[in-house]
Amino acid sequence: MAGMRESLVQIGERRTNGNGAPPPRREPRPEWLRIRLHTPERYKEVKRLIGDLSLNTVCAEARCPNIYECWGEHGTATFMILGDTCTRRCGFCSVHSGRPAPGVDAEEPERVAEAVAVMGLQHAVVTSVDRDDLPDGGAGHFRETIEAIHRRVPGCAVEVLTPDFRGVTDALDIVLGASGGAGPEVFSHNVETVPRMYRKARPGSSYERSLALLAEAARRRDAGEYRGRTKTAIMLGLGETDDEVRATVRDIRDAGVEVLAMGQYLQPTREHLPVERYVSPEEFDAFRDHALSLGFLHCEAGPLVRSSYHAHEHVPEAMRPHPTS
Ligand code: SF4
Repeated sequence: MAGMRESLVQIGERRTNGNGAPPPRREPRPEWLRIRLHTPERYKEVKRLIGDLSLNTVCAEARCPNIYECWGEHGTATFMILGDTCTRRCGFCSVHSGRPAPGVDAEEPERVAEAVAVMGLQHAVVTSVDRDDLPDGGAGHFRETIEAIHRRVPGCAVEVLTPDFRGVTDALDIVLGASGGAGPEVFSHNVETVPRMYRKARPGSSYERSLALLAEAARRRDAGEYRGRTKTAIMLGLGETDDEVRATVRDIRDAGVEVLAMGQYLQPTREHLPVERYVSPEEFDAFRDHALSLGFLHCEAGPLVRSSYHAHEHVPEAMRPHPTS
């Protein structure tokens, strides 16, 4: 699936091992990753709405640790379009992978827009599974969804977190050309990890291809062909070194990306890649300072940061679509 796939944690899960006994616990999670489980009425309303509209969210599918905060306290969610089955199998991601049902759900863009309207969102984040089976990689469906939200909720900023579309630049034309050329307010594609970890963490994907997609979006922005923001995210804790993190952050900045999110990788189930290290809040602060020193306009960095966490703060008021436009 596209994106920092909001990688993540299955709160409280313990799988049994071969003889039915629970496996031994790994190193306990540090204090700063403790999550408050609470399901206030707002959380239940979001859950009900998503179910009633037959939508998927990456919050639930990727077992995001922030779901109680985002749904319950902020009444927000990240919609996952193009079905619930991903054609790739990343080592960190718990979204179901396999062969998706052919085609796309043509009504889904309007249902996403309906959810955005009912939830009263002013910043909607839309991601998807990877759909390498579709000729356009799902770009047309992203465009339909951007346009449906802009039409239904004028004034709502749309952030898309897309797959790499296998490097097909036509796909970028389709997505960034949405809404009469205005495009989404934020175009995001996640690099996810440092290049050395790709073979293990992102088989079927390419660091260079992801960077090239972001660089092309940034080039279009610089040329005045796209007026939104460019954004990416990486996870820490998969086995990368600090030097590799800093080199990757520099590569991303050199590609022209403006917004960066950095968070802690958390193993969603025991079948996924193990956590190699827990990065402390202070270390995240240092990575953020480094990123800002390179010229990023905004860098969100912290153990529980995911690419859509506090996403509305990454778009200045002046960039929001005018409600009457
Ligand atoms: S951080 Fe993103 S994926 Fe996680 S719960 Fe919040 S909106 Fe959903």
